[in-house]
Amino acid sequence: MYDWIAGRLSLGKSVFVSRKETLKQLPGIKQEGLQGGVLYHDGQFDDSRLAINLAQSIVENGGFVLNYAAVTGLTKNEKGQLNGAIIVDAEKSASYQVKARAIVNATGVFVDNVLKMDDAGAGQTVVASQGIHLVVDKNFIPPHMR
Ligand SMILES: Cc1cc2nc3c(=O)[nH]c(=O)nc-3n(C[C@H](O)[C@H](O)[C@H](O)COP(=O)(O)OP(=O)(O)OC[C@H]3O[C@@H](n4cnc5c(N)ncnc54)[C@H](O)[C@@H]3O)c2cc1C
Repeated sequence: MYDWIAGRLSLGKSVFVSRKETLKQLPGIKQEGLQGGVLYHDGQFDDSRLAINLAQSIVENGGFVLNYAAVTGLTKNEKGQLNGAIIVDAEKSASYQVKARAIVNATGVFVDNVLKMDDAGAGQTVVASQGIHLVVDKNFIPPHMR
């Protein structure tokens, strides 16, 4: 998936590594429960800058940006079609009702909470998972992989 999403900007091909090869490459790694490894390349970027650039692009294109504002409910017309949202401004403790022709639910792992505001019986579409990013000194990595 990483390679496919990266497309031509990929930093290198991702490969599954057997348990034997993982132990060969990282001799100091804990062996208990080890199944194998995945070798992939990752980049680094300034995510707060990305958020600000995104906000700038919205404003440049005539949009209105609201921060610290949660959608707490969705409104519907007499035909039962969505036509707006109720927004609570956390900084002013104020509640607003806004009208909308279209609503995009882009709330990441919270997507189902908003979906249920439309349809209380909606099933679960996203299952949260967790992992960790562990940054180690390059001395832990064999020279040819640094
Ligand atoms: C620690 C960590 C490290 C990660 N590292 C990487 C990585 O290296 N590479 C990578 O590709 N991905 C990484 N990810 C995954 C990546 O961050 C997510 O896949 C991505 O942010 C999802 O984008 P999104 O726009 O769908 O949702 P999000 O970025 O989660 O945005 C959803 C937004 O909706 C808002 N929201 C939620 N509910 C409401 C509501 N009711 N009303 C108003 N707003 C609401 C939230 O506050 C949030 O701002 C990482 C994630 C974590 C947690």
